[in-house]
Amino acid sequence: MTVSTALNTIYTKALQGERLDGGEGLQLLKNAPLLDIGSVAQKVRLLKNPQQSVTFVVDTNLNYTNVCDAYCTFCAFYRTEKDTDKYTYSVDQMLTQIGKAVEQGVTTVLIQGGLNSALPMEYYEDLVRRTRKTFPGLTPHFFSAPEINKMAEVTEASVHEVLFRLKKAGQTTLPGGGAEVLSDRVKHQISRLSPKGKVNDWLEVHRQAHLLDYRTTATLMYGHLETDEDIIEHLEHVRSLQDEALAAGKEGFTAFIPWSYKRENTPLANKVKVESGPNKYLRMIALSRIYLDNIQHVQASWFSEGKKTGQIALHFGADDFGGTLFDENVMQEAGFYNRTTKEEVLRMIREAGFIPVQRTTEYEHISYYN
Ligand code: SF4
Repeated sequence: MTVSTALNTIYTKALQGERLDGGEGLQLLKNAPLLDIGSVAQKVRLLKNPQQSVTFVVDTNLNYTNVCDAYCTFCAFYRTEKDTDKYTYSVDQMLTQIGKAVEQGVTTVLIQGGLNSALPMEYYEDLVRRTRKTFPGLTPHFFSAPEINKMAEVTEASVHEVLFRLKKAGQTTLPGGGAEVLSDRVKHQISRLSPKGKVNDWLEVHRQAHLLDYRTTATLMYGHLETDEDIIEHLEHVRSLQDEALAAGKEGFTAFIPWSYKRENTPLANKVKVESGPNKYLRMIALSRIYLDNIQHVQASWFSEGKKTGQIALHFGADDFGGTLFDENVMQEAGFYNRTTKEEVLRMIREAGFIPVQRTTEYEHISYYN
């Protein structure tokens, strides 16, 4: 069979709603012409989310500490205990920052930090509980899987117990950071010192979260040491975990969010040979939409890939435009700076040909902007 015949067979399968296997995913990733995979992905998107609308959330990213003992080679954000510009904010200081964000109209605050062994479990519980109490209209979208694993380590508790305690404090969603590429080969090279830094550690946090009725997101940070096979392995892990959640009667992942590695100020930079420009990003968006047949939403990023690429991604299978991200410091440390306003997000979605719809963290619609 020629490559183009094989690709046509895969396109037909995808459009008929049939699941692709790993070999077919790899074929799309390696050989599909960009506009062809984009066109199939957009048709699949419209079958899954037929409305001509694109959702977005008004949110911000805050950080409670930059102290971390994982030393990931792709990270420009962390500081050690010896660094003079290290910081750890108290819960009161975090509430002040959250309050300022609420004044700007945010409905979601994503909070992440370094893996700081000095912080007890009560700190995290207090942060969630007081956020819920002080800002009842806000969703605390706090702590990625490595932080949950760090809490479990510090508290000498299970992941389930940590998530249970956070849920009791008022948390209902979990961001998907820390996945990077779900391949132990890659993880060993980029985050080998991260406690619980194996693929299964990330999966287990999200598995337990789903079983406790959290909604979570899945992410992918590509464009460094991974191969195409690693990317397919990543998508396969995410799809299988979502199968597990659905089989257990849970809703699991809300969305899949790929982004490219930002290299400035990071030790990994001089080892990277993988391409990660707009072409690759659009291919990743399209492939994710086609391969992840059990995940409802794929998020395009105006932030990490640039505004124009973000808009184009809305024609390559993405149905969500991410958040306004009023404050973001992690990528900024890696020399990457991008800002927007709610008005600009509305304009960018309209310009791309869609109706903007403001959503919650859990993808419930709040306001239509016809
Ligand atoms: S990516 Fe996260 S866990 Fe890794 S060094 Fe940076 S802050 Fe620490």
